[in-house]
Amino acid sequence: MIGILGGGQLGRMLALAGYPLGLRFRFLDAAPDAPAGQLGECIVGAFDDPSSLERFAQGLELVTYEFENVPVDTARFLAARLPVYPPPQALAAAQDRFVEKTFFQDLEIPTPLFAAVDHHSSLATAAARVGCPAVLKTRRFGYDGKGQCLVRDAAELERAWGKFHDVPLILESFVHFEREVSLLAARSRRGETVYYPLVENHHHHGILCRSLLPAPGITPELQLQAEQYAARLLDALQYVGVLAIEFFQRDGQLLVNEMAPRVHNSGHGTIEGATTSQFENHLRAVLGLPLGSTASTGHTIMVNLIGTLPPVAEVLAIPGAHLHLYGKAPRPRRKLGHVTLRHGDPSTLAARLAQLQDLLDESNGAHSSR
Ligand code: AMP
Repeated sequence: MIGILGGGQLGRMLALAGYPLGLRFRFLDAAPDAPAGQLGECIVGAFDDPSSLERFAQGLELVTYEFENVPVDTARFLAARLPVYPPPQALAAAQDRFVEKTFFQDLEIPTPLFAAVDHHSSLATAAARVGCPAVLKTRRFGYDGKGQCLVRDAAELERAWGKFHDVPLILESFVHFEREVSLLAARSRRGETVYYPLVENHHHHGILCRSLLPAPGITPELQLQAEQYAARLLDALQYVGVLAIEFFQRDGQLLVNEMAPRVHNSGHGTIEGATTSQFENHLRAVLGLPLGSTASTGHTIMVNLIGTLPPVAEVLAIPGAHLHLYGKAPRPRRKLGHVTLRHGDPSTLAARLAQLQDLLDESNGAHSSR
C-alpha cells in the first residue's frame, strides 16, 4: 500500500500504472471530490493536520507525492515514520524559485539571469542586474503561468510590482527561446537512473497545451547535455522517483527554467509513447524495483484538454486516439484530460492532430459562444 500526497490527476495516473503491479493506494487531499478518489481510498484532510496525517500513514509501505506544494514539514513529519520519496529536500529545493535557481547556479547548470525582489527597495537593483525585458514572478506557489508578469521597461516593472501584494518575488531575464523542452528522469532507491528522450512543449496562456515525444530534431549532444544537468540534480538531492526538468532551448543550448519533483504533464505521452510510462517508472523507482526502458515507441503527441471537453465519441473516432479523462468538472483553464496520438509516420500523425484540433476548436468555440 503506497500513500500519495495529493489526489489530482497525477495521483490517479500513478494508481492506474500501479494496479497491474499489484499495488494499492491511499491518497490524502483536502478536496472531497479529488480525481484519484474515484480509484482508491482517499482521506480528506489538510496536509498540515497531524491527525489526518496519522490516519493517512497507518499501514503504508511508503509515501510519495503528486503535488509539489506539499508543505516540507508534512513530508518531514511523515519521513520520521516511514520512507518518503522523493526526499523532502527535493520539495524544499523546488518550492521557491529563488532557492531553486540558486541551486541550479551552484551546480553550474545554466539558468536565466535572476535576482530576488524582497522589498520595493530591491526592485531597481534587481532590474539593473537582470535587464529588460524580464519576468517578475512570485517565488512560491506559481503554476500554469499564474503569479508572473512580463515587463518591458521600468514603468511596467513598477506596475507589476504593485500587483503582487508584498509577497517575495524573483525577477528573471526574459529568454527569447526557440522552443521549450523538458526532460523526465527517474532514479531508483538503488541508484539506477534512466532518462526519457527530450519532449518539446507548447504553452498557451502559460498552460501546457501540447507535448511532442521525442522532441523533433534533438541532437545526441543536446540530449546528453540535458541528461548531464539532470544527473547533477539527481545526485545532489539523492533523488528517488521521477524528476521533471523544464528547459528553454536557445542557440543550441539549454537553460533550465524549473524542476518538478514529481511525474509531470509533459510526460503523459510516455503512457503510450514509451516502453515504460513515467508513472510506472516512478513507482518502480520508489519501490527499489528495476527501472523500465524509456525508449520511444513511435512519434507521439499529447494534447491537453483544457476548460472544455470535446465529444468523446468524436475523439475516439480518430484512428489510434487514446483518451484520458480525469473525472473533473469543467472550469476555465482547468486541465480536464488529455489525448495521446501516436504513429510511426509523422505526416499521418499531423493529419490526426489536425482532426483533433478541429474538434477542440469546435468545442471551445461552442463554449465561448454560449
Ligand atoms: P513557469 O511557471 O516558470 O514554468 O512559466 C510558465 C511559462 O512562462 C514557461 O513555460 C514559459 O513559456 C514562460 N516563461 C517563464 N519564464 C520565462 C522567461 N524567463 N523567459 C521567457 N519565457 C518565460
